[in-house]
Amino acid sequence: MTPLLPSPDHYLQNLITMTSPEAKRLWRRAIKEHFNCQCVYCGETYELHELTLDHVRPKTYGGSDLTSNLVPSCRSCNQAKGSQNWLSWMRATFGYKPQQEQLITSWIN
Ligand SMILES: [Zn+2]
Repeated sequence: MTPLLPSPDHYLQNLITMTSPEAKRLWRRAIKEHFNCQCVYCGETYELHELTLDHVRPKTYGGSDLTSNLVPSCRSCNQAKGSQNWLSWMRATFGYKPQQEQLITSWIN
């Protein structure tokens, strides 16, 4: 398992890797592995390379690039959510899914 750290820079600072692209690659993989390669929105399981990382709070609304604002998402959910509020988008798309909502809420807080 790749250690889960708050940002790619932390992989460099902790000497887990020496290069910036590798730090970013490890960081992205650690987040996906933490969620067992599931899309947090639809709950489906994917291969590592099939998952994207989604900013829960969109960058356009001041969302950060830190681990706590990033979740694995399948391409379809990522694209459909866009820059909408994650909770209203999820409720409108999937109805009330307490498990998925709780997963995201505890991650971002
Ligand atoms: Zn999905």
